[in-house]
Amino acid sequence: MTHQHPESVDHAWRDLVGTARRSAADGLVVGTSGNVSARVGELVLVTPSGVPYDRLGPEDAVGVDLAGRQVLGALKPTSELPLHLAVYRSTGAAAVVHTHAVHATAVSTLVTEVPLVHYAAAILGGPVRTAAYARYGTPELAEAMLEALRDRTGCLLANHGTVTYGDTLDQAYERTAQLEWLCRLWLTASSVPGRTPALLDEGQLAEVTQALKGYGQPG
Ligand code: 13P
Ligand code: ZN
Repeated sequence: MTHQHPESVDHAWRDLVGTARRSAADGLVVGTSGNVSARVGELVLVTPSGVPYDRLGPEDAVGVDLAGRQVLGALKPTSELPLHLAVYRSTGAAAVVHTHAVHATAVSTLVTEVPLVHYAAAILGGPVRTAAYARYGTPELAEAMLEALRDRTGCLLANHGTVTYGDTLDQAYERTAQLEWLCRLWLTASSVPGRTPALLDEGQLAEVTQALKGYGQPG
């Protein structure tokens, strides 16, 4: 297939590869675990399956349409294509990040919802659910994920990892980093023998959600 992509596609691919490399550099994935995608109009750019991120160049862009048909590139798309496409079909997401971040994955083996130990849950839209286990790469996993994602921008995948989405790759990535941090926090607090962490209630979380609308610099 042609290597003459429009500039917006080249730019999005560079961003996508940068995000995938960052997930490895930050320790959220090991080797070729995890995958990243970004939507450019009707095109969905995805990381290729099983290729180390440091080997990806501008000529390796892989793109599919929303039905999953490959329309760009020669490398085989990520095995988690059903999961990425399910997010784009059912939300306004422009980017999706999937990792095997260790604390989040540990928590996915322990609970069906991440306990509300911190207001950072508001960044994900509320208490983060764990999607029921299904084999990687299956439509069943995509379906379980969609259920767990209802009114949230991220979820855990039981005995597997994380999924987050956002309006940009940076936003999707930030949500993964916050989710991993939140899971690490809960594991740390709940590991103190004989003690149980205090939790926030839904009212306190709603208050934070409201306050966060004005968080950071104006404008
Ligand atoms: P891919 O290399 O096919 O993207 O698979 C990695 C993964 O995390 C599957 O769940
Ligand atoms: Zn995975």
